[in-house]
Amino acid sequence: MPLAVRILLTLLPKNEKTLAVLIAILILPVVFIFFLVSSITTMTHVPAIKPEQIEMYKEASVAVFAEFGIMVPFKELIAIDAVRYKQDFREASTYRAIQLARRFIKKVEKRDKDGNVIVYYYKKPLETVVQEMIESGELVEGDLERIQRYLQFPWDNPTENPEVPGLPDGYIPVPGANGLVFPVVGQWRLSDVFRDRYNPVTGKWESHKGIDLAAPEGTPVVAAKKGRVVLASPNGSAGNEVKIDHGDGTKTRYLHLHSIAVSEGQEVEAGQIIGAVGSTGQSTGSHLHFEIHIHGKAVNPSPYLFK
Ligand SMILES: [Zn+2]
Repeated sequence: MPLAVRILLTLLPKNEKTLAVLIAILILPVVFIFFLVSSITTMTHVPAIKPEQIEMYKEASVAVFAEFGIMVPFKELIAIDAVRYKQDFREASTYRAIQLARRFIKKVEKRDKDGNVIVYYYKKPLETVVQEMIESGELVEGDLERIQRYLQFPWDNPTENPEVPGLPDGYIPVPGANGLVFPVVGQWRLSDVFRDRYNPVTGKWESHKGIDLAAPEGTPVVAAKKGRVVLASPNGSAGNEVKIDHGDGTKTRYLHLHSIAVSEGQEVEAGQIIGAVGSTGQSTGSHLHFEIHIHGKAVNPSPYLFK
């Protein structure tokens, strides 16, 4: 036996169980990272809900109240579907919203002293319904926290949101994980993440300081947060760029825009249209490259938008 192998064998635990645990500790993170990467690269969303889609959930809530005398808050229904449908509310219907609302109803039968069956209905807590949906495979672990974040949005009165000039008719911006408005309104696909990557254009390894959201040319791009436009012009390989200073140590950058709808010095609201998705500058296809900078340092935008 070669010496190196013999030395390695002496280092390995003698106990089989300890060895199995050691191998699991080494392999599990690799498997986990593989699934994480494969799931984020295939994700697609429509990160906006139309007021008429909100109405479907209100109707469902009223229908179930008429049936059982129990009011299921329509906000809880929307929050579940925002996670279940990955914000693509085209999958939603009044029928499906009613089916969902009925799952909140717990039926209890009791007998009175004369032996007659009396039926009571209760509303299950959101946590219980979500747990049941996790068990049936419709939701996954961790979705409860995501659902609770959506509950913070003023769904019942979206007009309480700041005025949003220029959004497509009937759309309201939907906040991401930390109150940031999702920067693309419409259908998109995550085409690259924040990481070191091989640049096919320059042939070099370089760090990719933002995320790429592939979307058709002309798709509206909105400000992720209220702030002041500090750059709104062509900027070399970045193409047409808008940069917004949010005044709290954070800045956001929007690159490769087809067109720019704001000018330098302008104050913008969260969700206000600032341009349209394009492929200007160093780009291989129509997409928005989106960056978040905190105190001058680019950070991974994904936790701010997806969690
Ligand atoms: Zn990019």
